[in-house]
This record gives sequence, C-alpha cells and structure tokens, in this order.
Amino acid sequence: MEVYNYREIRTPVFEETALFERGIGEQTDIVGKEMYTFSDKSGTSITLKPEMTAGVMRSYIQNNLGEQQPLVKVYYIAPMFRQERPQAGRMRQFHQFGAEAIGGLNPAIDAEIIALSLEVYRSLGIKNFELRINSVGCALCRSKYRDALQKYLYPHLEKLTEESRKRFETNPFRILDSKDEEDRVITKDAPLMKDHLCPACAEHFTGLQKYLTLLDIDFLVDGRIVRGLDYYTKTAYEIISKDLGSQDALAGGGRYDLLVQELGGKQTPSVGFAAGLERLLMVMEKQKLNIGPAPSPRVFIIAADDGGRQWSLTKAIEMRRRGISCDIDFVERSVKSQMREADRQQAEYVIVIGEDEINRRQVRIKNMVDGSEEVVGFDRIIDYLLSDGDRGEKGKTS
Ligand code: AMP
Repeated sequence: MEVYNYREIRTPVFEETALFERGIGEQTDIVGKEMYTFSDKSGTSITLKPEMTAGVMRSYIQNNLGEQQPLVKVYYIAPMFRQERPQAGRMRQFHQFGAEAIGGLNPAIDAEIIALSLEVYRSLGIKNFELRINSVGCALCRSKYRDALQKYLYPHLEKLTEESRKRFETNPFRILDSKDEEDRVITKDAPLMKDHLCPACAEHFTGLQKYLTLLDIDFLVDGRIVRGLDYYTKTAYEIISKDLGSQDALAGGGRYDLLVQELGGKQTPSVGFAAGLERLLMVMEKQKLNIGPAPSPRVFIIAADDGGRQWSLTKAIEMRRRGISCDIDFVERSVKSQMREADRQQAEYVIVIGEDEINRRQVRIKNMVDGSEEVVGFDRIIDYLLSDGDRGEKGKTS
C-alpha cells in the first residue's frame, strides 16, 4: 500500500448505527440482518463496524481530510464484524485490508485501485485468481434500468425464491447475483446494467477497460456483479479464487461517487476495495505458499546462577536497545531446560552466563544455525552480534 502512496487510517471499532444505515443502505444484507448493534449506557445505538468505507468517509468529512489535497489515498487493516452463519470463509469476526482513493473521478484511479488489490495476491505468489468487472451505472441510468429489470422479472415473480421476491421491490439488482439455480435460469436473459449505461457511465467504463489493458491486466466483464452495497456507482469489481469453495470472493471493490454527499459532506467521487485476510490465508494454505517463518529471537541468554540472571537482565535490555531481539529465562529453569527453550524458540545465538564467565569477563557465543562457537569478551558482545548478522542470516537460509 505504501509503495502506491496510500497512508494508513485507523477508525474506531464501533460507530453510531445511523452511519452504517445511511452509508451502506437499509436494503442491504449487511444493514438488514448482519450488524452487531447495541445500545450504550446513554441509549445511543452503536454498531461494530461491518466494513470500513463508511467509517473512513465519516472521518474524511469530520476531519476535513480533503482540505489539503484533492485526492486522499488511505489504506487499512482491521477487524470487521458481521452476524452471519459461520462457515468456511465466513466468520463473525474477520479481518479486511483495503484502500480508498477519495476525491477523483478519472477511471485511471479505478484502474490503480484494481491494480493495487491484484498486486497483493501476485506479490504473495498466489495463482488461479480472476478479476471480474462491471459498471453499476449512476443514479440517472440506474433508475431507468431498474424499470427495465423489473419489467423483465415481473412475469416470473412467482417462480423466484422468497429471498429474491422480497428483493423485487427493494433491491432488484441483487436478484442477479442469487446463487439459487432456478433464479439463475430465470435471470439468464435478464437485461444487464452494463448495456443500459448513460453516455457518461459508458465512457467511464470504456476508459477503465482501456487502462486495465494498458496495464496488461486480464479481466472479464461480468454483468452480474452488483455488489451488496447501495452506494456503489459506476465501477464494481470482484477478485475470485477457485480455491475458496462457495465463498469464492477474495476481494471486492468499486466506485461510490454519492457516498460522501449522502453522509453530509461535499460531493466527492471515490473508489476503493476491501479484501478478506482470512480468505487470503486460506488460499495460501491451499496453494502451499510459504507465509514466512514464525518470528524468533536472535539471541537467548541462559543464566546458570543468580549472578548470571542479573547480568542477563541488564544485557538483554542493552541488546534490545541496539536492535538485537533477545530473550532470557524468567521462570528459573535449569540450564538444560533453558537450552531446550532456546532451541524451541529457534534462537540464532545462545549465550550461557554464570559465575565463571562473569569472573573471566567473557562468554561463549554459540551459533545455533551452524553449531560454531566463539569466545567473546564482554565489551565486544554487541559488536560481535551486530557484525555477525549477515553471516548468521546466510547460515540460516543455506
Ligand atoms: P464485502 O464488503 O462483503 O464485499 O467483503 C469484502 C471481502 O471481505 C470479501 O471478498 C471477503 O474476502 C471478505 N469477507 C466478507 N465477509 C466475510 C466474513 N463473514 N468472513 C470472512 N471474510 C469475509
């Protein structure tokens, strides 16, 4: 995110419920049935954030973030909460990472947001994912299209699932992404938004495709991507992985030109994406990708007696100040079991300290990676560890 010049934003875990009702839309699944909503002691209705965009926009307006610059680029990694039936890839508390570019209308920004989200997967070595894009139009063309869609669906109303029938009036676009087989058959030839765009939206969509092609990004135009949220305009996209099962979306995003205004700010076209962190890890596990070694201390100091314990306490702090990660024994174990602990933690170096070493003012530093040992005077320990860093790392990887 930072190499794309996005800056981190952190918003509170909860917001006033009204923010999500206005910012996500009352007709959406999230607001309709998935929010964790409570009253606080003053009777204010609060909700644990089910997504980040509404909170980011609230902060953008409240803190005048757009005052200094026309385009504000922010990213986040945060826990989200949705009351859903838990299943593989669907948790009630999960994490999202994502980004928002607030203040720009040009489809080049949509292309940058898409490129940035894809880059996360590419850079981790993930394969078999697919980008699907669509345009959901704007307030102008969407209302005309809504009429066309309802007209098409009306004769089939009885045959639609109960869920889709309910959506017919409130949010008919969502009927297009129903997973039900029968609904899918009925909507097979339904009119799609992408074929009913007004000239401005059509031009934006063509522009986006031109930029994606320029960036050498493969994509599929999928007229059924509607996204769940009411405030989306123009670009909507999803990144899908075949390695995820029925919950196959790795990430989703799009443009929301009406949101800031809806929340009481100035008209501010924006585009962003949100991605599931747990789903990313599920795919990495399935594809047997390395998520990197568990963190381990570089040095473990083993104390043989009380004097050694005091020495290790002060030396550890000195090492840490110099940037050398280090740990010591705090639970008065025997030398042998401290050695086992150092091994378990995969420390790179072990130092044993006791009366003998203190009297001689020197220690034996054992390199646990190649088994070599060296006797080092007290005054050279830190320098030895710092200068040995390169050799040690090489030893570890070879
Ligand atoms: P959404 O805001 O629903 O489009 O979610 C964006 C991304 O967050 C999805 O593509 C998923 O990767 C992830 N996600 C959404 N809901 C959940 C959940 N309940 N558990 C885990 N991941 C989720």
